[in-house]
Amino acid sequence: MNLFGRVIMAFMPITPKAFIRFISRRYVAGPELEDALRVMREMSSENTSFTVDVLGEDISTLEGTQPFIEEYNRLIEAISQSDLNAHVSLKPTAFGLDIDYGYALKALSDIVRKANESQIYVRLDMEDSTHTESTLKIMEDLYSEGHLNVGVVLQGRLLRTNDDLLRIAETMGKHADVRICKGIYLEPSEIAYTSYSDIVNATSDAVETALDLGMYVGIASHDHPVINAALQNLQSRGIMPEKPDPRKPAPVVKPGKGGGYEFQFLLGVRGDVRRRLASNGHLTRVYLPYGKQWYEYSMRRLRENPGIAWHVAKSIIMPWTNRR
Ligand code: FAD
Repeated sequence: MNLFGRVIMAFMPITPKAFIRFISRRYVAGPELEDALRVMREMSSENTSFTVDVLGEDISTLEGTQPFIEEYNRLIEAISQSDLNAHVSLKPTAFGLDIDYGYALKALSDIVRKANESQIYVRLDMEDSTHTESTLKIMEDLYSEGHLNVGVVLQGRLLRTNDDLLRIAETMGKHADVRICKGIYLEPSEIAYTSYSDIVNATSDAVETALDLGMYVGIASHDHPVINAALQNLQSRGIMPEKPDPRKPAPVVKPGKGGGYEFQFLLGVRGDVRRRLASNGHLTRVYLPYGKQWYEYSMRRLRENPGIAWHVAKSIIMPWTNRR
């Protein structure tokens, strides 16, 4: 992290909450479900789809899962009554993954089933590497229960990702659907790439492998080298917007998705790149977080990866670099 990022980090704990709220408005839709719906409606002219995430902090008891269960039910209900192209993303630990695996599986199974009634796709976000195995297992268990509207995220920076892609391809076949990102959590060099260039290359390689394994691929990066490599890989395989996916076998595409792939962006980050991709016919999706715990969420993300402070600072000082 550069000096400016470090300064921002040092001042965060004493920065008035109202100011943090002002900054985070770009990245978080607001505290309430109605805020998420409003922002999606406002953005509907931008020819994009959404995946909505309910913000929350770590839970330590199973009772702590109840607010998430209730809010995701409300969210799914609201999406199903709207004409928005929106799916949901969730963190398995918010459903008790760290406390009681069986409980978390049942809770997630109920959510995924309810989402499926309205053709809504459920993405299990990937948390730090201590959760990779249990998150993959929960997805496999959901799949073996017959749920097809569920997928995970793999992080390019983790050394295990290539093996995980092969494992998912084997388990889910033409229903395999992964989001590939660099990974927000800083992981040790024993299990992860740690330099910028290695992470970029590994993330692009993961996208390429996922395409070759016949998966539906969510390319979740704002970084030009990753996006450009993905575009080249798509083009060289003849996978292009508004054309049938030439892969054999091609993935089974779920409702509201693109032709075998989509580009995903965080709310508030590099909207110009997203709009350009959309205007060239690619399906784009905005990851849209909302929730009362926006403050804890913002602070935790900054603690987990202080490099974000620099992006935030840059977007304040040089707003033209980072329009919503
Ligand atoms: P970077 O080099 O970090 O960013 C490129 C440029 O994008 C920066 O220069 C900056 O201008 C802008 N930028 C990037 N991030 C931010 C930010 N937070 N605020 C402001 N500007 C920013 N990680 C996980 O570990 N698990 C997940 O489940 C997960 N889901 C994700 C879902 C989506 C849709 C996206 C887009 C990312 C997700 N991530 C997840 C985060 C991801 O792993 C990266 O940490 C993050 O996207 C930054 O990497 P980058 O590829 O965008 O490249």
